[in-house]
Formats: sequence, structure tokens, C-alpha cells
Amino acid sequence: MDSENFYCDKCSGNVDKKDDYCPHCGALFIDGIGCSRHKNMQADGICVICGEPCCADCLSEVNGRYLCSNHLDYEIYEDLARVYGTSDVNHAEYLKNFLECEGLHPFLYSRKTNPYSLGGIDYTLFRAAGDYDGHIINEMKIMVPLQEVTRAEELLTEFEKE
Ligand SMILES: [Zn+2]
Ligand SMILES: [Zn+2]
Ligand SMILES: [Zn+2]
Repeated sequence: MDSENFYCDKCSGNVDKKDDYCPHCGALFIDGIGCSRHKNMQADGICVICGEPCCADCLSEVNGRYLCSNHLDYEIYEDLARVYGTSDVNHAEYLKNFLECEGLHPFLYSRKTNPYSLGGIDYTLFRAAGDYDGHIINEMKIMVPLQEVTRAEELLTEFEKE
């Protein structure tokens, strides 16, 4: 008899027993996975954004989540990551609708309602924005679930070209 609920040892997030890794934090549940960049290195975890297995050299842990070097600078809140920021509310709404029409699940956050402001300083916020005292205060952020970041960025890049 299998229990219905499985929890990740690392983050206590809910996981499916079929999962090879935790979708919340990137902890690996199986052995014998190689790093995607260093073929003879064992992977220590999975980047929660791109799903690439990473060895200890490639992997970083930010707020309890594993990220590869390409995705280290993202602002992440719970299972959402920022893919776009603008001070133009209408533009942010427009892009959110656009992503929804493409089947993604975007959320809008502004600094005022951003849960970051309740939880203290998150250094990823500073790094992603460059200057903290500038535009970031009024920024509308488009956040998407971690696994949708790659797709959302492709769509936004295509959109900006048009
Ligand atoms: Zn986890
Ligand atoms: Zn990555
Ligand atoms: Zn590596």
C-alpha cells in the first residue's frame, strides 16, 4: 500500500512518487545522473528552471532551491520566477494576457503587494534589478511557474521582435 502523499526530504514540498527530482527545490531522488555539462561528474541536483542536471560545480543554491549558473539571477518567490518587469501597468497586463493565451500561468506582482516586502531582504531581488533604489520600487513583475520560465522567455522574445 502506497501512501498518497510524498514529501521532499530537502524542502518538504509535495512531490509525486514518480518524480525523479523535486520540482520545488531541485533535489534529486535517484542516483547515477550525470551533470549535463561535465560528462564524468555526478549531478547533485536539478536546476528548477531549466531542468538540467548539475554537478556541485555547476549548481548553486538560492533560498533552498537549486539553480544552474544560467538561472542564478532570477527573482523567485515560492514556485514563481520573474520573467519580465516594467513600470507600465497596461503593458504588463497586456503581456500577461498574451502569455495566458499561449497556455501559460502568469501572475502580476507589484512591489507594493509583493510578498518580498513582508519577508525581509532577498538578495536575488537586488541582483536581478541592478539598482534597488531606482525603477524597481514601482516595477510590475510578470512571474510564471518555474517550469514555464523557458517557454515564457521564448514567447516574450518573439513578441518583442514584432
Ligand atoms: Zn524539494
Ligand atoms: Zn537552469
Ligand atoms: Zn557540472
